[in-house]
Parts: sequence; C-alpha cells; structure tokens
Amino acid sequence: MNQKQDLLRQLAHDPAGAEDYDPNAMSVAQARLYIQQFLTPVQETERISIKHALGRVLASPVISSLNVPGHNNSAMDGFAFRHAEAAQRLHIVGTAFAGRAFDAIIPAGACIKIMTGAVVPPDADTVVMQEHTAVDGEYVSIQKLPGKGANVRLEGEDIAIGQTVLDNGHTLQPADMGLLASLGIAEIEVYRRLKVAFFTTGDELVSVGQPLQAGQIYDSNRYSLWGMLQALGVEVEDMGNIADDPQALEHTLLQAAAQFDVVITSGGVSVGEADFMKQLLATHGEVLFWKINMKPGRPLAYGKLGQAHYFGLPGNPVSTMVTFYQFVQSALKTLMGSPQSTVPTFKVECVSTIKKAPGRTEFQRGILFQAGNHWKVKTTGEQGSGILSSMSQANCFILLDDYAQSIEAGSWVEVQPFKGIF
Ligand code: AMP
Ligand code: MG
Repeated sequence: MNQKQDLLRQLAHDPAGAEDYDPNAMSVAQARLYIQQFLTPVQETERISIKHALGRVLASPVISSLNVPGHNNSAMDGFAFRHAEAAQRLHIVGTAFAGRAFDAIIPAGACIKIMTGAVVPPDADTVVMQEHTAVDGEYVSIQKLPGKGANVRLEGEDIAIGQTVLDNGHTLQPADMGLLASLGIAEIEVYRRLKVAFFTTGDELVSVGQPLQAGQIYDSNRYSLWGMLQALGVEVEDMGNIADDPQALEHTLLQAAAQFDVVITSGGVSVGEADFMKQLLATHGEVLFWKINMKPGRPLAYGKLGQAHYFGLPGNPVSTMVTFYQFVQSALKTLMGSPQSTVPTFKVECVSTIKKAPGRTEFQRGILFQAGNHWKVKTTGEQGSGILSSMSQANCFILLDDYAQSIEAGSWVEVQPFKGIF
C-alpha cells in the first residue's frame, strides 16, 4: 500500500524520472494498467439478506452444507423398479409423490408409481417413463426398457456438501440469489458499498430547473454520472456544480476526499483549464494528468487525494461517459472487491463508412441491428464529443484501435455492446 503511494507520488511529482512513462502519449491499455496498480479494494464487510444481494460482491466464499438434490429423485412421472427385474410384469405396490415418499419395502417382482421430484426409494435403481409402459390393473409391463439408473437424479449431483458454490469477489446475479436459497442460506457476507462523490465544474453550467442566460448550457454530466454510478450499485453523492473558482473547488475537493472512497469530477482537465486544477490537486494529493491516445476523451486525470481515489474526467458530455466506461467503471469494480473482468467484444459487419486517421483509439457510437439472421452495426452519425444524443441512440461502442484507418462500408469491426441479458 505504501509502495503504491510512493510510486504514485514519484510519478505525480517527477514524471520524467520514470522510464517509459509519457503523460502526453498514454495509450488506453497503459492508462488502465497504471490505474489498476494503485487500487486497493474496500475491506469492510457486512451481512445482508439474500433479498438485498443483487449486484453486491461476496466477501467470503459460499460453501454448501447441503447436497443438492438432497435425495435421489425421479426426473419423470413413471415407475421406479429394480433394473434386474424389468423382464417380468411388475406388481404396483404404492406411489411416491414429490414431498411424500413411499417408505415401505418394494418386494421382489414389484415396483411403485413415482412422480417427478419424488424420492426414489433405496431398493429401486431405475425409473421408466409412464409413456414407455402398459398398465393392466395392479400390474405394469415395461415396453421400452431404459438403461440401469435412468431418470434418477442422484443426491448431490448438482452440488455436494462442502463444495464452494460461489467464490469470494463474485458479483451476485439473480441466479445466485436462487442458488443461495436452494442451499438454505438466508444471509451472506458482502463488501460494504463503495462511497463515490462527484461534482461538475464550469462557470457556463446551469442546473435543470433554472432559466438559461446567453452563453450558458445545462449541466448534463451531473445526470449521466449519476446514472452510470447508480447502475454500478455504489453509494452516490452528487455534490453539485462548482464554479471555476479556486476556493470553491478546493473546499469541495477536500470535503469530498475526506468522506468518500472515490471522488470524480467532470471538466477542468483540458489543456486550457488544467493548470489551475493541476495546482490545486498537486497541493492536496498525487494526481497524474494524462493525454490519452483516444477519441473522444483525450485528457484524463487520475490519482489520490488523501485516501480517496480521484478521477478527473473531461467535460465534453460524450467524453465524460466514454472515459467513465473505459477507465472508471472497471476501477470502481476492483475497489468494490470484484476481480478484473473484461467486457466482451466481437466482430460484426459495419454498414457505414467510417473516417479515421491512425494514431488514436476511437470509441465510436454504434447501433447493433438485426439484418435478417445476422447482426450488423452502423454508426450513430456525427461523432463529436459534445453530441450526447449519439450515446443515447447507441447500443454499442465501435472500437477502432490506434492503427486503424478509415473503414469502408461492408468491413468487419469490433463492437462492445452496452448491455447483455442482465
Ligand atoms: P472542459 O473539459 O471543462 O474544458 O469542458 C469541455 C466542454 O464540455 C465545454 O464545451 C463545456 O462547456 C462542456 N461541459 C463541461 N462540463 C459539462 C457538463 N457538466 N455538462 C455539459 N457540458 C459540459
Ligand atoms: Mg470547464
């Protein structure tokens, strides 16, 4: 931990001293790696009901104290019998229902009628489905003999006692909630929620609900940031819009850093404004200012303000969102206790022509759509970093790496979908 802080301090105050470190030409992958090495996940945990587990991160593995299923049971409605006796007509001596077992002996030459989910008694080894039998009063003949052991779900075949069912660091999904319930587990140990504060900067910004004066614009980042953070399941504090005023910014930054795990700002990191923020952040912490080889979202600041992690995002509304998704989101997940995972990308045919010069990674906004049996992608059109409607229309990023040049319509491109099933 101290080592991390030392390295960060060194980079923040003497970047020229580090080999291979150029804050003015930082690739996307490099910036992610830099950020990752300074992250320390939350340690505190809490016990919560499984009902509130969605999106939370497990702080200790879940070990099963049950076998699932808890007993051998039938996968079919049919008859349970001994496979060795299948050649003869079998006497039906009783019925096993789900939740109501047949608990007598099955005599030689006999069988029982059995329902799906009912316990298969220890002296039967196979179930034949009803459709493969002929019943004649109290007797049944098997017309299509299944293999020995067929249609019997074995005790513990899904989960055995002592088995780790979910690992530490797992983010809980709806299926996990059902799985925990199936094991009789009502409460789990999870990491506490990450506390994240953010504010936007800019004298030109006006909050919704206020009239616009000439030259002013509405503060949209405040709401896109709010939404992106809420979707991650962190505790969010909106500290408002702060004017480009050194004292106000200093006051808000210090207040946020003292109370939250993470502080995010939008605006004020571009070249014209950076000096001012740089000074402020240098006084109170170790912050790295990068020019990233990407479009949109070139300037990005990352560092520590006291114990808090700090992310300074560019103010252009699309840049704010792209840098959040490409850098901040995975960092927050790590801080939440969840191991690194990469968002899947895949290739599809692009029906649009895309203009691009080599040198930067581009995150163009795309729309995946179904064309007959195939999925294809088109761009949302104008890709300016202020065109927030492009993010709204899009359902994926089209990823164009540093080396990529212009793309002809009909070429295959890499896409990163915004959403999966859940
Ligand atoms: P900055 O990064 O502060 O230089 O801002 C870059 C551009 O984004 C400027 O045109 C700003 O007006 C605009 N901008 C900055 N912050 C916001 C915000 N919170 N909402 C909408 N636009 C913003
Ligand atoms: Mg600004």
